[in-house]
Amino acid sequence: MIPTSQAIPEIPVHRTRNSKLQSTDFNALEFGKYTSDHMLSAEYKNGQWGSIEIIPYQNISLAPDALCFHYGQTVFEGMKAFRQDDGNISVFRIKKHYQRLLRTLERMCMPAVPESLFADGMCRLVETDAAWVPGKEGCSLYIRPFMIATEARFGVKISSEYRYIVFTGPVPTLYAKPLRVKVETHYVRAAHGGTGYAKCGGNYGAAYYPTYLAKEDGYDAVLWTDSLKNEFIEESGTMNVLFMINGTLITPPVSDSILDGVTRDSILRIAEHMGIPVEERPISYRELEQAAKDHTLQEAFGAGTAAVIAPIRSIGILGIDYTLPDYTENNFMFRAKRFLNDIRRGNAEDIFHWNTIISM
Ligand SMILES: *Cc1c(COP(=O)(O)O)cnc(C)c1O
Repeated sequence: MIPTSQAIPEIPVHRTRNSKLQSTDFNALEFGKYTSDHMLSAEYKNGQWGSIEIIPYQNISLAPDALCFHYGQTVFEGMKAFRQDDGNISVFRIKKHYQRLLRTLERMCMPAVPESLFADGMCRLVETDAAWVPGKEGCSLYIRPFMIATEARFGVKISSEYRYIVFTGPVPTLYAKPLRVKVETHYVRAAHGGTGYAKCGGNYGAAYYPTYLAKEDGYDAVLWTDSLKNEFIEESGTMNVLFMINGTLITPPVSDSILDGVTRDSILRIAEHMGIPVEERPISYRELEQAAKDHTLQEAFGAGTAAVIAPIRSIGILGIDYTLPDYTENNFMFRAKRFLNDIRRGNAEDIFHWNTIISM
């Protein structure tokens, strides 16, 4: 076990001489299209972390038999940094993301990343590429820490070598057109005892095919159900899912098959702060169907770092589409999103202590 408190020496910064900044159109950002100038890189070998440095964003070279290409030891996080009005930068909920990364790494038999490598390394990187943090309302700097098994060995084994990399890129608000989702009652994303709670690459690969089939049927995404009965709602692929039924905010409890989303948690805390009743409990698609029929289903939405909030327009249940009422800016989901953004951009007091401020 690697102590998570391993001290990290001052991280050297090797700056690029070919900045991509001038050739990046910040008025036409697309999610996932642009990467910033630098990346943080660290290597794990012989039981310890070393070669920790910030270097120009570049390709990495690995042997074809590097274990990450074959047996799935690849994990990641997804976070954001925001420009505040005074020019400073806030990074959102570093601690919560770090704790989740540790749980993911443990599940995948990968060594812990020391807390200072995660937190200080990330802040140093964001500081190095501060010019890449968009100032425009709704835009932000996406941060992608990830770790892969790098030992060159083609037999199935737990890798003894790893690379931890963090890169970033400016992103716009994903204007989420209200989604048509389908309750999936055949395929499962994650089973009890599996890796659903871990942010590992394999969970996504397994979700592609059922999602592709749902898209062929005209849906935007699937609402996964539990692996035992295919009845209880889990989440929606890259987002957790929340429902407003009769004035109560309801969401499935996190479990070993549901990812513990930081956005989900933030929305729940904000709801409680607003005095809205919150229930974290199993919710079956039959209950959703009944609530839709009774017109007590007021809101349904996804919550995740990329889109923040993704309104759901209709839910397909066993071949029948149930349409949600039209949304207005007054709906809880949009009020919560504004509250969250105000905290992150420094326009509201950071009452939950979610921001790490990088002074510029
Ligand atoms: C990352 C992720 C989410 C959302 O988590 P956030 O921390 O809010 O970004 C939800 N579901 C899955 C499967 C994820 O990988």
